[in-house]
Amino acid sequence: MKKTGFDLGQVFEYILTHHRGLFATVILLPISCVYSAFVAIRNQIVFRMRSAPLRHDQRVQQVIQQIEDWKKDGSKQKLCTARSGWQAMSEMVPKYKLTRRNIHIGLYDLLEINEINQTVRVEPLASMGQISRSLISKGWILPVVPELDDLTVGGLIMGFGVETSSHKYGLFQYICESFDIVTAEGKLLHCSATENTELFRLIPWSHGTLGFLVAAELKIIPARKFVRVHYKPVTTLDEMCRIFDEDCRNVASHDFVEGLVYSRDTGVIMTGTLTDQKGNDGPVNPIGRWYKSWFYKHVESLLNQNRETVEYIPLRHYLHRHTRSYFWAMEEIISFGNHPLFRALLGWALPPRIELLKYTETETTRRLREKHHVVQDMLVPMLHLKKSIEYFDDFFDLYPLWLSPMAIFDNDQHLGLIHPYRDANGQIDEMYVDIGAYGTPNKKGFDGRTALPLLERFVIDHHGYQALYAKTLLSEEDFRAMFDHSAYEELREKLPFCKQAFGEIYDKVSLRGRVSPVQMRKLKPGDLKSEE
Ligand SMILES: Cc1cc2nc3c(=O)[nH]c(=O)nc-3n(C[C@H](O)[C@H](O)[C@H](O)COP(=O)(O)OP(=O)(O)OC[C@H]3O[C@@H](n4cnc5c(N)ncnc54)[C@H](O)[C@@H]3O)c2cc1C
Repeated sequence: MKKTGFDLGQVFEYILTHHRGLFATVILLPISCVYSAFVAIRNQIVFRMRSAPLRHDQRVQQVIQQIEDWKKDGSKQKLCTARSGWQAMSEMVPKYKLTRRNIHIGLYDLLEINEINQTVRVEPLASMGQISRSLISKGWILPVVPELDDLTVGGLIMGFGVETSSHKYGLFQYICESFDIVTAEGKLLHCSATENTELFRLIPWSHGTLGFLVAAELKIIPARKFVRVHYKPVTTLDEMCRIFDEDCRNVASHDFVEGLVYSRDTGVIMTGTLTDQKGNDGPVNPIGRWYKSWFYKHVESLLNQNRETVEYIPLRHYLHRHTRSYFWAMEEIISFGNHPLFRALLGWALPPRIELLKYTETETTRRLREKHHVVQDMLVPMLHLKKSIEYFDDFFDLYPLWLSPMAIFDNDQHLGLIHPYRDANGQIDEMYVDIGAYGTPNKKGFDGRTALPLLERFVIDHHGYQALYAKTLLSEEDFRAMFDHSAYEELREKLPFCKQAFGEIYDKVSLRGRVSPVQMRKLKPGDLKSEE
């Protein structure tokens, strides 16, 4: 029988699907602001009162106690962190949280800044925004600050983290001096280059399948007032690849190297240098102020003028320059978000929180996203940069593309699941590039469900890696071809209780472990079989 009458659910679905920008502005932004303000105030109070170090050991003991209880109960269920999957930055939501035993890790803070050793000790749920704000107030920064404010230390270590200083310092994992891990046996292990070295090497990319991270010690470097950014527009693909490659390898001259690609042949290569002095060669541009144009739009305007330019960007503004617009993803959520009037009135409120955006996905937006939308970072050896841009152009036609360099160092300390590029003669090249593709491809007839597996094959064939926060359609076999599991598997055999407690990485990051937000909303614990 045909249903008639007023259906509130359908109206809501209609608004969320067809007036997403308006909904995000009127409903999600105010909630996001209140939540973010609460978190920021709480973090500042804890940081200034230095209360976190006093509670840290006790909280770690609580984690250990939960593992002991699991063992007492016969260690039947698999384990995972209790952090809500909605809060993770990925567009996917972990469904394994519903079937695994959740271990609560209430560790959110900075513990100690050691200015002599130049390190900071942090808890795993401390976020990039929180750390950069606190460190800069004391005259320091992390050498690698992955862009978005809400990325967490735990996620960046157990997953992956990169930034435009990664040509010099490598991935986020390379700035880690040590980890404190609670193992499935319930032991607290300190891991570093000299202690529990195997575990230290294999923690990055392991996605919490070797133990729970409860603290990390990270390198810090002195903060400066500005980043002097030199913007160089390029108008051919060869020029783009050549200049980007040269700049990335010129580690002594550039603290940051970034590329924004606006078409197959055009882009802007940016190099940045930390400095306290503002020179006479360019103006100060506080790009992070609420009324300022989104960064990638600003860069595009320089490309359109084909004008080489120098600017002095205040340090924190530079480190989080893509945060307000989630790179360029915001344009598809609030299409009028970069309008001067919107910026003047509400620019300070951006971005809406990721968990709210995910939670309000509808069946229609899910279908559209899966078919027509891409969020991927592919990490390929620098020598394949040109071929990769051509591939993206041929099969996606999606711009801008983000280019961020990343070194995979050829040293014992950190060889784990990924390795530097080695050619047929055994020659090693440590320089990779992260190509970030976010948005709706313009390629006629594009379908993400078929395009993604082909892209993944291209990346495997070119000795690359996929960033695993994003959706992956790799088969288990291809996943193992991409990521070297040999040392990881040996260690899992050796660590007591490890295999009982944790599934493999693939079980967490593939469609076995994750679903779309709208599917997750419909799931209830009883719908899934427990993994034993
Ligand atoms: C819009 C967008 C922009 C992004 N921008 C950047 C960027 O600029 N630079 C960059 O490097 N990356 C970026 N990323 C990707 C990001 O690096 C990953 O999402 C990363 O894993 C951090 O995410 P998270 O803090 O949400 O961690 P989560 O997704 O919550 O965690 C990642 C993994 O680590 C495990 N884990 C986390 N904490 C612990 C713990 N304490 N113990 C054991 N296991 C743990 C989790 O179980 C999970 O498997 C971006 C992603 C999106 C969606």
